[in-house]
Amino acid sequence: MAEKFDSIVVGAGPAGISAAYTMAKAGLNVLVLEKGERPGAKNMFGGVIFRHHTEKLAPEFWKTAPIERHVIEYQYWFLSEQSHVLVSHRNQKFNGQYNAFTVHRAKFDPWFAKLAEDAGAFIINRTTVDGVLKEGRKVIGVETERGNVLADVVIAADGVNSMLSKQAGLRQETPEEAVVLAVKEVIALPKQRIEERFNLGTEEGVAALLVGCGPGMHAGFMYTNRDTISLGMGVNMRDLDKSKQRPNDLFENFKSHPSIAPLVKDGELKEYSAHLIPEGGYNYVSNICADGILVAGDAAMLVNAINWEGTNLAMTSGILAGETVIQAKKKNDFSSKTLINYRERLEDSFVLKDLKKYREVPKFFASNPHFFTLYPQALNEFAYMWHVVDDELKADRIKRMKASLFKRRSRLALLQDAYHLWRLLS
Ligand SMILES: Cc1cc2nc3c(=O)[nH]c(=O)nc-3n(C[C@H](O)[C@H](O)[C@H](O)COP(=O)(O)OP(=O)(O)OC[C@H]3O[C@@H](n4cnc5c(N)ncnc54)[C@H](O)[C@@H]3O)c2cc1C
Repeated sequence: MAEKFDSIVVGAGPAGISAAYTMAKAGLNVLVLEKGERPGAKNMFGGVIFRHHTEKLAPEFWKTAPIERHVIEYQYWFLSEQSHVLVSHRNQKFNGQYNAFTVHRAKFDPWFAKLAEDAGAFIINRTTVDGVLKEGRKVIGVETERGNVLADVVIAADGVNSMLSKQAGLRQETPEEAVVLAVKEVIALPKQRIEERFNLGTEEGVAALLVGCGPGMHAGFMYTNRDTISLGMGVNMRDLDKSKQRPNDLFENFKSHPSIAPLVKDGELKEYSAHLIPEGGYNYVSNICADGILVAGDAAMLVNAINWEGTNLAMTSGILAGETVIQAKKKNDFSSKTLINYRERLEDSFVLKDLKKYREVPKFFASNPHFFTLYPQALNEFAYMWHVVDDELKADRIKRMKASLFKRRSRLALLQDAYHLWRLLS
């Protein structure tokens, strides 16, 4: 442990491993410290990884990686208490041109970490980093329970709570409104039953987003794995506080919804977990570099909540952080003057461009929670009214539908909502 490394990466998630792989492949002496007993042991997500960005590190990875299913259908559910409206996109193109794969992190992360190990990175598990070591303002290594380790550059890829970036003075405690608490169950069912219930072929999968299932900014997710279903929901921490409800109760309520319950009926609970998601967007992205340190992935708040993307931002930021260290090594300058290039690379990439584009969206939804409550409900009411067949004249029915909506949201407010949403997303 007395050895000095070119770089120490803290955290063996997608961000840390991508950084470690990039640097090790270029011949740098890299140490990865992971607190879990193995990579993935402490990690949970929805979820899917994306082909495009994973392939930058591992071409045709699905041939060897422990993937569950490739996604052929994206579903968007709008729930009310007794019903749902479902919009979905299924495309046979996804059968040849894979786009996303469902995975279990406990299986995928160790496989991913082996890539970095094979490239020459040294990974030590069961080692919690307690803080950064500094010489003046410059970070020169990390403190661990096993002793101190030195490096030219530390990459903090220690996830959403990133104690390291707080210690390095790069970030404050994350405000409640920028964080979502997610709970998830993994429910086992025979493979064939999953395929019947979701109308899937052998390797095919579904990724579903569900709104309207709770208080405020609140969304559910459902992913089909080989012989399990990942079912979960996330609630903005501020809305959760306001609602005075327990996440467990909200989840049970969601799981017993008459449209969801049949999909997981007779399933066996395999796993229950909870995790935070940093969904604040661009306005909350921390300072991500200083003398001797870079921050990547969730630790830097790099999650695109609008498009449900996180792992690809983590991998890309890890690669860019790694490339910046390689460049710094060539110049033998590890000060922020050189490391700031990491921020520039991120600003130039889809990571910060996309987050910047949607920078006002989290705030907009936070101050307009009716998008998650009133609108899904109204949509379900309309769908019901539209389908009921009786003697009522269609013109009267449409009048009734309009009146029911305008009672809850004025015409002007509806127009404003549509205008603002269009401006924010286009
Ligand atoms: C419920 C949920 C659903 C999601 N669904 C999706 C999805 O479907 N698709 C998608 O792309 N993204 C999804 N995400 C987001 C995605 O999981 C994250 O963006 C991504 O995992 C971030 O990777 P990371 O490497 O930055 O952090 P993490 O994956 O959190 O890894 C951080 C690592 O650092 C380790 N660590 C932390 N502190 C220390 C320490 N002090 N010392 C040593 N090690 C430490 C941890 O053990 C962990 O292994 C979801 C997230 C959640 C919570």
